[in-house]
Amino acid sequence: MRDPDCIFCKIIAGELPSQTIEEDERTIAFMDISPATRGHLLVVPREHARDLLEISPEDLAATVATVHRVAKRVSERLSPAGINLLNSCGAAAWQTVFHFHVHVIPRYEDDPLRLPWIPSGGDPAEIEAVARELR
Ligand code: 5GP
Ligand code: ZN
Repeated sequence: MRDPDCIFCKIIAGELPSQTIEEDERTIAFMDISPATRGHLLVVPREHARDLLEISPEDLAATVATVHRVAKRVSERLSPAGINLLNSCGAAAWQTVFHFHVHVIPRYEDDPLRLPWIPSGGDPAEIEAVARELR
């Protein structure tokens, strides 16, 4: 199952080059072409799914298992100070490539990345109201 216009499907098919670091039956991990930090990579399911809402539970589980393995390898080989995992679902959430992927982003003490929101006290009544909507 692939999307003929999808760059990640083309990478998976070997039609576009990539620095692949590991592959299994369901997933592939390759370096991001515009790394946020040294060692930034992406883990994707082989089967095309647009985003978190479309991916099958089986492919999501397989992708997370690969993310876990790869993050441990990043930790051992690159010795970052920390690691962020990032998934964006929808253009409003910064998704730019519409084939589900998880970013594995090694973090270093002196890197330029910053938390994208400013934590401030929440309104307990609003938190409770939205919790009710979600239960
Ligand atoms: P998103 O913005 O959807 O969360 O992440 C898409 C990521 O894919 C970006 O970090 C971008 O640098 C990366 N990317 C876009 N095109 C290519 C490509 O052709 N090859 C690789 N390896 N990464 C790509
Ligand atoms: Zn695709």
